[in-house]
Amino acid sequence: MQAKVLVVEDEQDVARSLAYQLEKEGLAARVSANGLDALEQIRSWRPNIVLLDLILPQVDGFTVCREARQVSDAWIIILTARTEEIDRVVGLELGADDYVCKPFSMRELIARVRAVLRRKQENQQPSSVELVSGDLTLQTDSRRVLVANQPVNLTLKEFELLKVLMSRRGETLSREALYDAVWDTEMPQDTRTLDVHIHSLREKTERNPAIPARITTVRGIGYRFDG
Ligand code: CA
Repeated sequence: MQAKVLVVEDEQDVARSLAYQLEKEGLAARVSANGLDALEQIRSWRPNIVLLDLILPQVDGFTVCREARQVSDAWIIILTARTEEIDRVVGLELGADDYVCKPFSMRELIARVRAVLRRKQENQQPSSVELVSGDLTLQTDSRRVLVANQPVNLTLKEFELLKVLMSRRGETLSREALYDAVWDTEMPQDTRTLDVHIHSLREKTERNPAIPARITTVRGIGYRFDG
């Protein structure tokens, strides 16, 4: 099936050129020039990937991201010219899976889209595994995570990260290895994406996120799941 990519961007030149490149890659691409239309397309067209600009007319990208997360499991890649870290953190906490800073190279962006699609395909192979550690349970088939029998709302990336950590319990995993396993691309110079996701996972799964008992930081190397 042809993968569908929705480009949400009000700068027409950028949007058109993106859509053109994506279609050249054999993907189906559509463009939304505002947030309202984007939400409508996400509901009705059901794209696999959403490339989302943050500054949009009518409904901004933050709102689109938050609302999209409620109705779609599309991979959301934020496109942002704003480099302040707060934007990145907020974007990821709203459920975005990745971000690309403007100006971006078309090649880099296409490579990320390709990586996402590869990963989605791999994930389609059904394998039902339940990883359990104390009151934390992760079910791979239903993609559910429970803490003390209560479902926890994780983004796709958080889920993948927790899955890798739990399945290799007790093993120290380097930052590069974790990044590679979850993002499927080489780790960029800016490594905060990984830390933001770890931080968020701790908030959602640790009894006391300030003193994590499950996901341990191994200084200078990476992280380890200790249970
Ligand atoms: Ca814009």
